[in-house]
Amino acid sequence: MITYGRQDISDQDIESVCDVLRSDFLTQGPVVPLFESELAEYCGASFGLAVNSATSALHLVCLAMGLGPGDVGWTSPISFVATANAMRLTGAIVDFVDIDPLTFNMSPIALREKLELVESSGGQLPKVVIVVHMAGQSADMQEFKRLSLQYGFRLIEDASHALGACYQGQPVGCCKYSDAAIFSFHPVKMITTGEGGAILTNHRDLFDSISMLRSHGVTKRAELLKCDAEPWWYEQHTLGLNYRMTDVSGALGRSQLLRLNEFVETRNRLASRYTEAFSGSLIKTPSVCDANLSSFHLYVVQIDFDNSVVDRAELFKKLGRSGIGVNVHYIPIYKQPYYQALLGVDYDLPEAEGYYRSCLTIPLHSQLSESDQNLVISELLGIYE
Ligand SMILES: *Cc1c(COP(=O)(O)O)cnc(C)c1O
Repeated sequence: MITYGRQDISDQDIESVCDVLRSDFLTQGPVVPLFESELAEYCGASFGLAVNSATSALHLVCLAMGLGPGDVGWTSPISFVATANAMRLTGAIVDFVDIDPLTFNMSPIALREKLELVESSGGQLPKVVIVVHMAGQSADMQEFKRLSLQYGFRLIEDASHALGACYQGQPVGCCKYSDAAIFSFHPVKMITTGEGGAILTNHRDLFDSISMLRSHGVTKRAELLKCDAEPWWYEQHTLGLNYRMTDVSGALGRSQLLRLNEFVETRNRLASRYTEAFSGSLIKTPSVCDANLSSFHLYVVQIDFDNSVVDRAELFKKLGRSGIGVNVHYIPIYKQPYYQALLGVDYDLPEAEGYYRSCLTIPLHSQLSESDQNLVISELLGIYE
């Protein structure tokens, strides 16, 4: 099966994990802090925190920002459900902002219009906005930063797709235009730790709260303790969780991070081959702004399935029979029964709907061979020439 994405594990990666298995620490030991500082350095952020998933990362950032019952958080409907769920888990209300049809990212124009509308109607402005760098291309962070200052919300980048990408020449994750950025290390993402995620930020206060929330709300750091410390002393200051990353995962992450630039290069090279092959056909290829480098976590094409010989469900099955795995990223989150129960079944956003009707993720990963890619190209051109 030619899958739409998959992990790329080298012998060196395996060796790094085995070294940890032979060491004294399996859960958070000396390796996780090394992974955290290497990741922060790669992205140009001051602080890095590794956790057991991107969902945990999002949840912790929302908690650390004080999001909770009675608050409102906004995000893009074209994302994995985890982005919205993280805000719901704090008890906050979630609402969605429509996307830009060219980049599939939250539209800064739609956000400004929604903010103006809510403000003028005396509604509740969001406390937190999470933008998603869909498929690996950064959202227009400068615009979002401007709006966050004007309307006083905090800005989180869900960069689960975009490790290794650049926005206007700077690495995604440097947090120049946001309060925090989070990454996922799920096997289909840019690098993997099995399950895993991370938070980057330049705010010391966020770093301190997240460190504590990640581990039961407990601290042993001398400068934070309220009592004179006995050698065994620890204090719980808040209600936290166990979202720690293991050293086993951290070792895999460190080894994978060394290969990230190579992964980004390969994905971009293969993406260009697709873009060239489909030019002039009925298959619309994704566009990346000149100032950005996409990590190409996903290669999403758009086809007018409503008016084509083969519709999407049929294509899905047909490609499956030829050994080609495709996918749809994503069903707009507000269409999920859980969110329909909160927002109403009629809730929809026009650009997100249009995108959803036409999108298809075709195989792209660092181990995709050119001959397998040629098979994908010829199967698709055979129908949508
Ligand atoms: C994968 C993903 C997540 C969740 O990541 P986990 O590490 O599986 O929790 C969140 N947001 C986006 C955009 C994702 O692609």
